[in-house]
Amino acid sequence: MKFDQNCIFCKIANKIIPSTILYEDDDVVAFLDVNPVSYGHTLVVTKGHYENFLSCPKDIMHKVYDLAQRIGQVQIKQLGAKGVNILSNCYEAAGQTVMHFHVHVIPRYNAPDGLCLEFNKIDDVNLPALAEELKENLK
Ligand code: 5GP
Ligand code: ZN
Repeated sequence: MKFDQNCIFCKIANKIIPSTILYEDDDVVAFLDVNPVSYGHTLVVTKGHYENFLSCPKDIMHKVYDLAQRIGQVQIKQLGAKGVNILSNCYEAAGQTVMHFHVHVIPRYNAPDGLCLEFNKIDDVNLPALAEELKENLK
């Protein structure tokens, strides 16, 4: 299992620095975000070091999302959340600040709850041409 000694999440996953852990097994760990954006904001991370979702092996990635699903279910049942956002930032351009694969599981309460995820639409996209280009690379 890869360990990066400069990585804060490697240190948390291996208990070198403390965190409020909710669950762990051989491959994945869930702990509370130290700067929560909502009550119960949780991070699910891999025990080994992978830069982000895009470079994580599939079997481990599936385990991360399995646990994210369980955490989201508990946030609804136990915390009374009314919704959940699942978010994984990949690379700086997408807001990734810790370069170790993690999934945010963010419980949402009755609006306004302090968090605003806005999707601003872009104009003038040729959707069929774009789809052709992308489909070619998915074959
Ligand atoms: P990113 O922006 O990379 O998607 O999110 C990184 C998250 O990790 C942030 O929400 C930040 O609050 C959280 N975080 C950073 N350092 C620590 C830490 O030492 N402990 C915990 N529990 N969370 C951290
Ligand atoms: Zn790491």
